Parts: sequence; structure tokens; C-alpha cells
Amino acid sequence: YIYNFFNKKNISGIVFNTNDGVQIFINCEESKIISLLDNLVLNKPKIAKIKTCIHKITENKIFNGFEIIESNSDNKPSLLLTPDFGICEQCNKELLQIENKRYQYPFTTCTNCGPRLSIVTDLPYDRKNTTMNNFSMCSSCKDEYDNPNNRRFHSQTNSCPNCKIQLALFENGKWQNDYKNYDYIIEQWCKGKIIAIKGLGGFLLTCDANNSETIKRLRILKNRPSKPFALMYHDVYELAEDVEMGIGEKLEIEELYAPIVLLTIKKEMDRWTKLAVNDIAPNLNSVGVMLPNTPLFKILLDKYKKPIIATSANLSGEPIIFDEEKSLNDLTALSDLILSNNRKITIPQDDSVVKLSSIKFYKTIFRRSRGLAPSYLNTNLKLPKTSILGLGAMLKSTFTILNNKKIHVSQYIGNTADYQTQENFKNTLNTYQKLLKPNFDVILTDKHSGYFTNIYGKELAEEKGIEIVEVQHHKAHLFAVLGENNLLETDENILGIIWDGTGLGDDGNIWGGEFFLYNNGTTNRVHHLDEFPFIVGDKLPKEPRISAFVIAAEIENKKRIKSKFSKTEWNVYKKLLKSSTLKSTSIGRLFDAAASIILGIDKQTYEGEAAMQLESAAHRYFRKNNFTKYYSYLNGFDEVPVKFTVFLLQNIIIDLNKEFNPDFIAAKFHITLAHYMSIIANEQARKNHLTKVVFSGGVFQNQWLKELILSFMQNDFELFFHNELSPNDENISFGQLMYYIYSK
Ligand SMILES: [Zn+2]
Ligand SMILES: [Zn+2]
Repeated sequence: YIYNFFNKKNISGIVFNTNDGVQIFINCEESKIISLLDNLVLNKPKIAKIKTCIHKITENKIFNGFEIIESNSDNKPSLLLTPDFGICEQCNKELLQIENKRYQYPFTTCTNCGPRLSIVTDLPYDRKNTTMNNFSMCSSCKDEYDNPNNRRFHSQTNSCPNCKIQLALFENGKWQNDYKNYDYIIEQWCKGKIIAIKGLGGFLLTCDANNSETIKRLRILKNRPSKPFALMYHDVYELAEDVEMGIGEKLEIEELYAPIVLLTIKKEMDRWTKLAVNDIAPNLNSVGVMLPNTPLFKILLDKYKKPIIATSANLSGEPIIFDEEKSLNDLTALSDLILSNNRKITIPQDDSVVKLSSIKFYKTIFRRSRGLAPSYLNTNLKLPKTSILGLGAMLKSTFTILNNKKIHVSQYIGNTADYQTQENFKNTLNTYQKLLKPNFDVILTDKHSGYFTNIYGKELAEEKGIEIVEVQHHKAHLFAVLGENNLLETDENILGIIWDGTGLGDDGNIWGGEFFLYNNGTTNRVHHLDEFPFIVGDKLPKEPRISAFVIAAEIENKKRIKSKFSKTEWNVYKKLLKSSTLKSTSIGRLFDAAASIILGIDKQTYEGEAAMQLESAAHRYFRKNNFTKYYSYLNGFDEVPVKFTVFLLQNIIIDLNKEFNPDFIAAKFHITLAHYMSIIANEQARKNHLTKVVFSGGVFQNQWLKELILSFMQNDFELFFHNELSPNDENISFGQLMYYIYSK
């Protein structure tokens, strides 16, 4: 692009990649530089992200024409890492043209699309520093690569059927190399087979999304009883048959980074297709969908013309499989056939997941991974020159590296309570260190000494002989959302509402329903959900009925809750309750308790299941009804009752006894929580003169809660949510960094 830009203008000079970015030297009049650069930046290719653009006058050097110079990597790298892309429109077209040399070639890419981060072995990004290094270009590809007027000019991933990356099929214990028979794959899907296919960031397990039996079998193989699966459709028109899709959602799903978008499934009577909804997303209203993100998927689905399940190849809770040699046994245990290729993946990543809200089309990132991670661009932050590593939390782990004043927030790595994920966390961190070559001055970690990231952080700090700083979980959330919205350095008071499932508090209790007052680096915990006893440790989040038991311990009519336990269980838990000294303020557990009482979800098989089903129930109500504070259990209250949690569950039980519809009660629960936040915010505004409220924590993935907050609070306050990062624990590592830099 740069070559063409200057060449067309007849300006002489040179351009080359360095570890700090692109450097351009040109001969031109001083007065013209600014408008030239503006033009260059303004017309940049869609996928290019320009963080800064500066110019200097250097000593005089005369160039002859415009040239591209071989990269050098002597400097310390501080370049941003480019994420992977799906497939661009032009490459898509070429795939379908019989006369084109790349007709149905499953690794068609260009300078605007295809893999980047997932194949990098070193920086700067050049073919020799990627796993494309193992393939040499044929003369026709080399011509494209060398021709500045070709759209594959300097395309590092360039290849064609003449110098191809090969598919390989593994079936009945044997590999068939140079595999080409797409129709056979289609046949196998039709027959109900599960096929592991190597995608951009790792292997995906695929099967017919209409075949209930196969999906049930996949659930058993993956040991994933009910967590929803993502779907891949061959085009948006077919997708629109199964889901409700607004224009914003359509545009998002067609984006080049090819995310999974969460969409509402159409009701059965409005659907003509045979999608096995109850097996794909049991008891939920929404499903994650994507379009083909590699040419291979595009070719296969254009033939198949039906949706497939496309879920990460792994056992539930473990990291995605990306190496067919190392993990052949695991892959064969999970699938009937394996369709791989000989281009290696170096940095495995899951698909990114986003959702657009139902009413106002703002976007919430649920999982920031392929296509989005790792570069984090925010030029407003004042960053020190030191190198800092933030290790994040546990459940949705990420790490953040500050190096040469650039921030890299890693992709979602997963639950580091799992051993495989711990190994993956270490490997990913090592790869990033190899690429970025940071020399860490300090390591940041969560306060919880039981977290892998805390233990590993201490190990690393000792090994490197550097300082380790523990950051309180919810304060990290607070600083993350403040940092994203450039609010860290204002002199006004800001209220931070931080709601999630769990995090170790400063007082040794388990926090999760926190209200902080922030002012220019200082933080005060001004309010929190009323405390309830915390018993049974890790078992508590797994069994919502126990949350119902502890939170409702003080209410009078316990018949509904007692019926969830055997007599022995009841007595054991009663004893535990009496002797417990640990307390919790977790909103996550309040959601669990409500889901158990309202919907009868007493045990959950994946994190957040009860809360998601409660949101789904509320969704069914809100789709047909307006929301009004009139249905808040706090309607008419100016203050929140001291024992708010008990008050709330008590009222829910009264409604259930009146035999109100559970969907309606779930909606009232959501309305009451939003009302609760607005009462506290108003109280704080009176005391502390504030107009800004920020929100962080996994609870704010709940779209209806977000809609209600906007509806109840938007008139009185300026409200801020996460933008590029997820509200869940994925943002903790970034928040730790912000806390370290900005807290006073
Ligand atoms: Zn392309
Ligand atoms: Zn070629």
C-alpha cells in the first residue's frame, strides 16, 4: 500500500518494517509532509491499525524512485501483533471462479486476510518468521509477491495449488496426504460423523447441527452435558431462517475478524429448518453463530448448505487442541475423522464471542480472542517506560504485558484451575515473551493465594529477582473499566459498580457485589451487598441450591428450599452455616440462589449456567413487555433494606406462592437489581457529588440488566461500560496494570 501510494505520486524514498513499526524515508518538501501523511493514514487498507504516525526531518539523502527494503530486527521489538483475519471478499470471489488458479484452493489469502498471529514464530512479521517458512512459492506466486501492483504484493501467506499447503485426512488409523475429496467430508457429515477440522486458531469439532443424535454423542465425547455449542452457517440468509438478526448483528457477523455472535433463536413456530435447538443450547434462548472464517470452511459449507456445529476441539474445560501430531490421541478420542493440514499453528486461540444488545445496539465482548487479541490501542493512557506483567485472575484468565509503552492483552486462555490450561498459560506467555522480548520490572497478580496465577507469579518473580504486587480483584475490575474510558486522571468523584461471582476481598471475605468511590487514584468501598455466610468453598458455585440455602437462612417460610435437600444434607449444611466465619457479598451467588428458587436449577454443569437461564427467563418476559420500576420489589423505597438479599428472596417466594409465571418473577428480579443500583448511585450522588458511574464484572454480560440500568439511570448519570475488553475476568490482567500505574 505504502509503495503504491508514493509511487503514484512520483515521490522517491524507501520503506521497511522494523520491530517498532513501519519506517518510511522520502524526499519531499517540508510543507507537504503533513497533508501527505494525512492522506496516507486516511486511505489505509481496512485491516491496518495505525496507532501513531510521526515524522522527522533527517539529514539529506537522495533516493532514486521508491523502494521496499528488507526488514531488520536489531532493535527491541515493540510492534503490535496483528491478529488473524477471516476471508476477504476478493479472495472469496476467487475461490468460486473456475478459471482462477485458486479455484477451491482452501488456503487462499491475500494482504487483507488470512492468518497472522497464529502462525508467527518471531518478529517482525515476515514470511521467514512464520510457519509459512516451510513452503516455498512457485514462480507465479513469487511474481505476485514481487509485483507492487498485485494485491498479493508482499503477502507473507501467499500460496496456490502449485505450491500448496496440503490437506490431510485421518481415518481408520491412517493419514491420507494431499487430500482433495470435499464431497466425502460432506457425506460424512450427512452420515452423522464428527469431524475435527483444523481452523485458524486450532481444531474445531464439527457435525451436522440438525442431527440430534450426533450432537448428544458429541456432548458425551467432550464431557460437556449442557453448555451451548456454536454454529457455523454458509451464509447470512440461511442463518436468518433460524435466528432473529438486526442489521447491526448482520454487519458484525460479516466482519473480517469473523467472530461468534450471540443471537436469539427463533421460536419453533417461526422456524422452518430442523435445527436441533434443544441439544445445541438447552434451556437457553440464544445461540452463538459464525460464518466460515477460512476458505476451507467456505468451500465445505457452500457444498453442504446446512449449518454445522463448530466447537473448540478439547475436553470440557481444557485448552483448544492445535497440533495434530502431539494431540492425535486426544483428537481421535473426540472425533471420527480428522481433517488437518501441514501449516503449523504457533499461537492457538479460541473464537472471539460478542453480543449486541437487544434494544440499543452496543456491543459487549464475551470472549476476546482470535481476531481481536492481543494489541490494545488506547493512545490516551500515560504509560511508563518500565516492563510490567499482569497475570490476571483464574476462571477467565488472560495476561497483560506492558513493554516499550505498548499494551498487549493476551487472548482468553481459560480456567487455570485446569492443569492443561495452566500449561497452555505458561506456553502462551513464553511465546509472547519470545516475540516481544520484555525485561520485566514487576509482576502483578490477584490477591487470592490459591489461584494458579498467584502461585506462578511468585515463582516467576523469584526466578527473575523482581517485585511482585498483589492487586485486589474488584479494584482491578474498577481500574480496567476506568482505564478503557480514560477516566483514571479526572478530579471528580466516580462511582464504580463491580459485580461478579467471586474475588478475594481486602478483609479476607469473598466479594462480588461492590460499590467503590473513585477519585484520581484513590478507591473507597462505599457500599456492598449485605454479607451472607460462605460455606462449602468451590462447591458453592456448582450448586445454586446451597446459595439459596445460605442466603435464605433467615427467612421464615423455608419449605421450598428445604425440599431441595435430603434430611442429612439439610442438617450438615445447617451445622456448617453455624460454624462458618467466612462471609460473601457475591452477586453471582445471589443470581444462583434466585435461579434455584425461581427455576429449580439446583446444580449447574458450567460456570454461569444458572444466571444465563435466569436471564433467558427474563428475556422471554421482556420481549413482550416494557420494563418499569413498578415491578421492582423496591418500588416505593428510598433506601435499600439492610438485609437486601433476604428481602429479595422473601419477595420472590411470596410471588411463587401466588403462582406467578417464573419468567415474570425472573424479570422482576432483574428489575429490582437495576433499581437497587440506581438507589445506591443516587444516595452516593447526594453525599459525594458525582455524575459518572462505571460498571465492570461478569454480571454485566447480562444484556437485560444492562438495558435496565440504561433505562433507570441514564437520565441522572453518565454511564460507562467496557468497550474493547470483556466485562468478565478477562479484563483483570489489564486492570492490574492500570491499578499499578494509576493508584495512589
Ligand atoms: Zn483476501
Ligand atoms: Zn503458487
